[in-house]
Amino acid sequence: MSSETWPQQLRRGLINLEQLNERGWLDAGAHSKELALAQNALDIRVPAEFHAGLAEGDVSLARQVIPAPAEAFIAEQELADPIGDERFSPHPGLTHRYPDRVLVKVTYQCAVYCRFCFRRHKVSHAEENLSFEALAPAYRYISENPQIKEVIFTGGDPLVLTDSKLEPHLTQVEKIPHIETIRFHTRVPTVLPERITEQLCERLGGSNKTVWIVVHANSASEFTEKSLTALKKLRRAGIALASQSVLLKGVNDSKEGLVALLRALYRAGVQPYYLHYPDLAKGTSHFRIPLEAAMALVDALQGQLPGLAIPKLTVDIPGGHGKITATANTCQKLSESCWAFRSPLTGDWVKVQYP
Ligand SMILES: *Cc1c(COP(=O)(O)O)cnc(C)c1O
Ligand code: SF4
Repeated sequence: MSSETWPQQLRRGLINLEQLNERGWLDAGAHSKELALAQNALDIRVPAEFHAGLAEGDVSLARQVIPAPAEAFIAEQELADPIGDERFSPHPGLTHRYPDRVLVKVTYQCAVYCRFCFRRHKVSHAEENLSFEALAPAYRYISENPQIKEVIFTGGDPLVLTDSKLEPHLTQVEKIPHIETIRFHTRVPTVLPERITEQLCERLGGSNKTVWIVVHANSASEFTEKSLTALKKLRRAGIALASQSVLLKGVNDSKEGLVALLRALYRAGVQPYYLHYPDLAKGTSHFRIPLEAAMALVDALQGQLPGLAIPKLTVDIPGGHGKITATANTCQKLSESCWAFRSPLTGDWVKVQYP
């Protein structure tokens, strides 16, 4: 076992084009105009945990973290805020779209910058970060709205905060009587496994609320020995684990790739929850396969895996109309690139044009 601490592991992440070019991991040269635009839109961070896999040429890891010239292409339909976070934000850092649960964005930094990030209009931009004090109106709103039963810490990645930065947020939410569960949406267990310390596990497992962690992972290759150890520690601490993945062209869009990912999650005691169809974030068209193909791919999992290991194919309807499970009851194909989705909030059909 290495004795590396998590801040050391975080610092070994590669953060610029020159470093990637030296290792031969860039398609275009480090000075290509497209890559400069990509880096400008979203910082680079290639976690140390992926380096061995990248050196072996693992494409399922590379496509997730190495900037591609295609990011410079922004389709007309792509949006700065694809799922309407800002439309449903009563206070800075807070999104309240569903009656019983809210998102609180405690940081916009991450341990990895995913090239398909749906929140890339804010993520990695340090000036967007809100301090605990700046989130006071958000916490007051949660306290005053007893229909809210769950606080979901997200961002960014809430687990890149140090224990001492995280503590006031936890204490604040634990004090609100009507909150029943605290959820973390995080990529840390697979990209920065050292962050899952005994101290963190004890703190979360000992909370007066039930803690859920939704682990974001997209490829079976992410389940290194260290990340499996991190997941085991969380389970031992009594934390409930589920997953979210994004269906990504060239990463996990084959039946074999998807089955391997879902088996890896299930084997690690993480219940596959959401498989997201990529949101219409700017410069991400190269990650989308046609929605019809995505539906067929997920249909084909039935019978191949335990039902518990089959996630819901989810479309977060562009514009903030809410998440739906993509089925014939909720999705209608109108033409080659045009779909209608039934909003779970209003029952209305929402027309969406894909590039
Ligand atoms: C995705 C999301 C949630 C969480 O939804 P679940 O279906 O409970 O996982 C909550 N609020 C917002 C605004 C979301 O986008
Ligand atoms: S970890 Fe999440 S928020 Fe951070 S870059 Fe990846 S997808 Fe975006």
